[in-house]
Amino acid sequence: MDKFDKEHLWHPYTSTTQPLPTFKVKSAHGVYIELEDGRKLIDGMSSWWAAVHGYNHPALNQAAKEQLEKMSHVMFGGLTHDPAIELGKLLLSIVPRSLTKIFYCDSGSVSVEVALKMAVQYWYAKGVPQKSNFVTIRSGYHGDTWNAMSVCDPVTGMHSIFEEALPKRFFVHAPKCRFDDVWNPTDIAELQVCIEKNRDSLAALILEPIVQGAGGMRFYHPQFLREARRLCSENDILLITDEIATGFGRTGKLFACEHAGIEPDIMCIGKALTGGYLTMAATLASDNVANTISSHYPGVFMHGPTFMGNPLACAIAIASVSLLLKSGWKEQVLRIENQLKQELSPAVRFPQVTDVRVLGAIGVIEMKRSVNMANIQQQFVDAGVWVRPFGRLVYIMPPFVMQPEQLSFLTDALLNVVKEQPE
Ligand code: PMP
Repeated sequence: MDKFDKEHLWHPYTSTTQPLPTFKVKSAHGVYIELEDGRKLIDGMSSWWAAVHGYNHPALNQAAKEQLEKMSHVMFGGLTHDPAIELGKLLLSIVPRSLTKIFYCDSGSVSVEVALKMAVQYWYAKGVPQKSNFVTIRSGYHGDTWNAMSVCDPVTGMHSIFEEALPKRFFVHAPKCRFDDVWNPTDIAELQVCIEKNRDSLAALILEPIVQGAGGMRFYHPQFLREARRLCSENDILLITDEIATGFGRTGKLFACEHAGIEPDIMCIGKALTGGYLTMAATLASDNVANTISSHYPGVFMHGPTFMGNPLACAIAIASVSLLLKSGWKEQVLRIENQLKQELSPAVRFPQVTDVRVLGAIGVIEMKRSVNMANIQQQFVDAGVWVRPFGRLVYIMPPFVMQPEQLSFLTDALLNVVKEQPE
């Protein structure tokens, strides 16, 4: 472990006095992460859903170099540029049709903050400022900033210690019906009651469509999303879908809301938007949301980050999304899905495991007990793979470019390490 790193650098969700071990990376190419000591690990995480094309991709590198020669950044207030415009055109050609206005922002969490602010400002513009609260489903995760935290699962969302300081939101149980189950209409009842009872104070429902990520890695039934859309429309509540993790093909559809055939009023995207190269996200809104905000006092949307529309990130995002669209992502994801289903299924019989589930290019092994992070991480590295579990969840979402034999190596290692955990 690097001494300076250990003594001075704070890593995600770690202690400064007893930091978890870190592994020093020298470079990363394709699906491999190369450590300083020369070991090459097959990447099972896509750097938290982002690096869908693998690392160091020539097309993305080229886009970055070309843009760097022109400008890496100019402010977006009063200025515009081709990378922002071209990316906007590309995004509008693939997102749900009703989303027509794009607000670029810095990260997933910020795009969630922006979405929540849009919803509040929408109702303010409509003359009903008391519609300012939010409802969401438990087991959700929407980021680590203040209001994003307030709509994360209060228990699994890792933010329970902030509970007293956070605004109070409405929470209903997450859907029980799994993606492939027969739909059970009682699954929507609690949300229906909550929305109908609190519609006068609710600005929006926010949820991750179909796949709940960091809050539990759960895959729920598309009918829940259809019913949620209907309830929002009937009760004058906006629907915000957080596609930050699910967007750009990960679940087998370009955007997860397509599983249900619904369209949100506001949508957040991020992560894979730049193929994992730079931090960038966007909040997209319908004409109705954007124009209502804009045609009432103060006539503008009250947000504008310094690095909004960063040209370098936009140029890389154009290259990444274009590459995705011509890469045959659908076949790649389907192939990974089939292989994961086949190769992870033996784990169901392991005494340490309670559930195995797969959707798109996401594979989850749910353990009976929380894993010991430091131990299991070392075991994965020793087995030649990069997998970072949390709690009872050991999961992978590999880059789409992963070849069948590489994926077999990864799933083999996964099963072997899981088998070694205490029962
Ligand atoms: N929403 C979802 C669904 C996420 O998975 C994440 C990141 N894990 C975020 C929001 C926050 O994004 P970021 O970490 O880029 O702020």
